[in-house]
This record gives sequence, structure tokens and C-alpha cells, in this order.
Amino acid sequence: MFGSCPRCGSGLHRNLNAIGLTICTSCGWTESRNQSATRVRNENRTMVVMAVSALALLLGIAHSINWGGHALEAPLLKLGPFTGTLSPKSYNRLAEICAELGSTHARAQLISKARRITEIQNRSRNSHACKFACKRHKRPW
Ligand SMILES: [Zn+2]
Repeated sequence: MFGSCPRCGSGLHRNLNAIGLTICTSCGWTESRNQSATRVRNENRTMVVMAVSALALLLGIAHSINWGGHALEAPLLKLGPFTGTLSPKSYNRLAEICAELGSTHARAQLISKARRITEIQNRSRNSHACKFACKRHKRPW
């Protein structure tokens, strides 16, 4: 891409670059090859930034449409498994949100996950309690 004239906006053509200058045929504006390369690079970078921002904005909107009023709460809950704040309570809360948004399939999955975690937690709590009880009775295990 060779860009367009920053002064009048008409297209700049490479064949006008023979003497090392870019010349606008509409308004007579000129720029050296180095300046031109910098300008085109900046323009391209600006376009990438704009495209990425637009994409982020679209994803944000799609996310908001998906989660409605829970757009802020849901991702925090979903991050639970990675931040170590995973709990049956947060799964149940997500399940509530899914039910509210009409996704019964996701709700059922989340509830069964919450149940499984509760079971695991109870089991390890019981085994702790058991070890503690056993120590108190001076059993060898
Ligand atoms: Zn021009």
C-alpha cells in the first residue's frame, strides 16, 4: 500500500517516486522516500490498531448480548477454575444465570459440576476428619 496524500486525500502512485520524491498530482504536495516509508508504516499501524479495537468492541458487544445483565459477573465466575476460587457456589450461580438466560442445557451441566465438586470436597473433608480422629486415638495411620 502506498497511501494517499495527507493534504488533499487523493491517491499517491509509485511511478511518481522515480526521483525519490512522492508527488501528489492533485495538489503538488511532496515527500521523500524515507518520510513516505515512515508515514505508510504509521498508517498501517493505525489501521491494525483500529481493526483490533473494532474487533474487541464487537466481541464485547457479542459478550454483552450473550450474558445480558450478567456480562461482568459471568466471566469472573468462569475464571474460577483458573484463579483457584472455584466453588460449587460459583457453579450454582452460573447455573442460575444460564437458567435466567434460557440455556437449560448449560444449566444442567453446571449443576452436575457443582454437585461433583461438593462431593469431592465432602470426601476430602471426611478423610481429614477421619485422620484427625484416628490420631487422637493414637492409631498408627
Ligand atoms: Zn494532494
